[in-house]
Amino acid sequence: MSQFWSDRIHQLTPYTPGEQPKDVQYIKLNTNENPYPPSEAVQQAIIAASGDDLRLYSDPSATDLKSAIAEFYSVDITNVFVSNSSDEVLAHTFVALLKHDAPLLFPDISYSFYPVYCKLFDIESMQIPLTDNFEIDIKDYPKENGGIIFPNPNAPTGKALSLEVIEQFLQAHPNSVIVIDEAYVDFGADSAISLINQYDNLLVVQTFSKSRSLAGLRVGFAVGNSALIEGLERVKNSFHPYALARNAIAGATASIKDVANFDKNRQKIIATREKATTALEALGFEVIPSSANFVFAKPPQGFEAESLYLQLKNKGILVRYFNAPRIDGYLRITIGTDDEMSSLSRALKEIIT
Ligand SMILES: *Cc1c(COP(=O)(O)O)cnc(C)c1O
Repeated sequence: MSQFWSDRIHQLTPYTPGEQPKDVQYIKLNTNENPYPPSEAVQQAIIAASGDDLRLYSDPSATDLKSAIAEFYSVDITNVFVSNSSDEVLAHTFVALLKHDAPLLFPDISYSFYPVYCKLFDIESMQIPLTDNFEIDIKDYPKENGGIIFPNPNAPTGKALSLEVIEQFLQAHPNSVIVIDEAYVDFGADSAISLINQYDNLLVVQTFSKSRSLAGLRVGFAVGNSALIEGLERVKNSFHPYALARNAIAGATASIKDVANFDKNRQKIIATREKATTALEALGFEVIPSSANFVFAKPPQGFEAESLYLQLKNKGILVRYFNAPRIDGYLRITIGTDDEMSSLSRALKEIIT
């Protein structure tokens, strides 16, 4: 606390990221990072862009990266916005597109950064409870709103909505921007990017942090109607015009072009997720069918999620526990390698039996 803080800062409750401990080598199944490294081609591109040229500013419009993304998704370059992580893309989106008189709507169980941005940017919001089986029900979303945002698949449940339901949202709320946060879409849901030319109120946000193994490079992007993108550019160019570093642009561009490695790794993670789900169920866990690179799992009768989280930590395995209403009975477990998931099963077996 300081007398020099503004009123707004006094009232903030900052986001708490998952632990990134430096003391012990844990098996990290707590922050949805990819267990596989970025490809050799991506690493070489980053090194090649980390030499003498670093004395020069980066390309403020990151044209190479935008055109690679545009080509990959068969959209126009004017439909693409890039910035320094999808958290930053989301921050610009809240300011540019989601601050209106009517409240912004998002699910009560969802990415816990959304309420933080609402406080930071002074945006009215209303949380819409998920149904009892953790589903987003379009009927619960009132007509009167200043925008709607949710992840698809949702976090931390891992449940995905079909494109059909996304279209129902777009049609039911033609005067609101609908933001789909697709951080996990590559692990088993359909991207709404295919709908952006049909709906001028749709913005899709994605990240390189999960399916592309580049959490440390900090690159995210959005795809949508060019007028929405222009709104984001106006905020970015009023805040941080050179948002992406030279090596970040180079690495992310190489990553988009390395389709084979991207497909291989996400298929491996999907296969491991299915095996891990079976293994957890065999131990008596109730596992919500996941379309993401994590599972949300309820421990067997007689075992508390928080205590399992602590006991796993003692055994060198980190998972995520949320001390929050409705979800404090669950663990969110990132899908690692097959070996890491076997270690998890062994550790859980020791604790439970
Ligand atoms: C991980 C995550 C992000 C943030 O990704 P970064 O690009 O690493 O900032 C955004 N939304 C959701 C739902 C996430 O899980």
